[in-house]
Amino acid sequence: MTVHGPRSERLAASADHYLYNEWLNLQKDPSYKPKWPTSYTCFHCGRQFEKPLRCSACKSAIYCSKQCAKEDWKPYAAAGGGGMYEGHKDNCAAMKEQMNRLDDFNRISEQLPWVVKNGNYYDAALTLASLKLRGTGSSYGWWAIPPGSAFAAQTYGQAYLQRTNHWNELEGWKLPEKEIPWLTFDESKGRNPPKSLPDFEDSWTSYYQWRGLPLSSPAALLLHWPLAVYRMLRELGITVGSADKRRSLKIFLLGLEKELEHIPIFGELALLFPYCDLQVVLFGASVFNASKNARKGTLAAKGVLYEYEAPKTLGGGTIKITMHTKSPYYDPAQYKERPDALIALNAGVTTYPEWFPVIIHSIKEDVPFAVTDYVDASLDECDRGIPGIISQELMRSGSRGSMPLMTAMMQGKRKKVMNEFMCPAAKAPAANYLPSGSNAWVYIVNAGAASQDQNLNGVLEVD
Ligand SMILES: [Zn+2]
Ligand SMILES: [Zn+2]
Repeated sequence: MTVHGPRSERLAASADHYLYNEWLNLQKDPSYKPKWPTSYTCFHCGRQFEKPLRCSACKSAIYCSKQCAKEDWKPYAAAGGGGMYEGHKDNCAAMKEQMNRLDDFNRISEQLPWVVKNGNYYDAALTLASLKLRGTGSSYGWWAIPPGSAFAAQTYGQAYLQRTNHWNELEGWKLPEKEIPWLTFDESKGRNPPKSLPDFEDSWTSYYQWRGLPLSSPAALLLHWPLAVYRMLRELGITVGSADKRRSLKIFLLGLEKELEHIPIFGELALLFPYCDLQVVLFGASVFNASKNARKGTLAAKGVLYEYEAPKTLGGGTIKITMHTKSPYYDPAQYKERPDALIALNAGVTTYPEWFPVIIHSIKEDVPFAVTDYVDASLDECDRGIPGIISQELMRSGSRGSMPLMTAMMQGKRKKVMNEFMCPAAKAPAANYLPSGSNAWVYIVNAGAASQDQNLNGVLEVD
């Protein structure tokens, strides 16, 4: 492919030169094996190392040595007497089963001609590097990796939100004009709105067609963020308004991290929810930190972080995004206002204890709650973990008023769907080869059936 437009004016940051060169090598010789990822994590001892051995049965678990593979097979005692770990013997078959998802992941990537294949999966980092969209600093716009903080989730958005204004779409997307999913339409400049209200199938190709984007546009690598929200709200049964009846919707978006680096991209939701007024409140440690450190007049200091109104011809949907700045986490006990839905992207809801009160609250108060996750296996973990979280709460609080909790504890598996609008390229393997993608799976923590019968302002109505 040819690198054109603003991209060619940029040099990849030095760390990403490496990946760019590996992609060039791959261009010259399709049989070339990129040396990426540069290191793996042992599934047993957690050590970082270079040459992976994989379990011969599931072809998924990655080990640094035969010794580790052997020790990992049967249950073993945690170091320091912290109980027993499950042996790989007990999850090998399940991991093997989940490796079958690779074909589905690849089918999503293959819709877009620029996604780079690395061995048997399509790699997000290699793809971004090949497009010269992977690096740090403002020349990368909304694509930039925050400097030195890729693993420090609480620092996301800090620099960007200390600006006084959002970047415009040229500054943010850093793409040739025709590859930008414009929200500020101007037909005299060829920045055309979609020709109809949302009318697309669940695939990136169909979405691009509706949106008037050429398949050469890498926009899907960021559009998966608003599209995941759209996909979760749809899965919760939340519907759009109509020409004679607008809806207002209040959504709490929890645990914000990377998303804070490119908030205007969520304007897309106003196109996807015609005749709706969306109020989105952002929660998370990085939201809290950004507002705590906000200088006067900056984005982080503004009550309303972002606002957008879609053209009348597309239903005139509006979105207003504000930040919750009083606490680092969403604490339902402190924040009485009831949202129409709780949403969390790439959440890991049973991994971090901060989520436990949110899970309990969503069930007790019957607030719809959906999350996305990278890997199918994490959601099996949720199915196993949520009953335990509920049972702890029942023990803590006694049994009064616990019917919804009891019912939810007995629920067993919760609804899970693959998100056709996931990031169309995967995360590189670390401790296993399970297919893993940003916003790859939608999982319904609580469907909130009762709330679906309510008007979205909390007043009962007959539909
Ligand atoms: Zn090891
Ligand atoms: Zn195995």
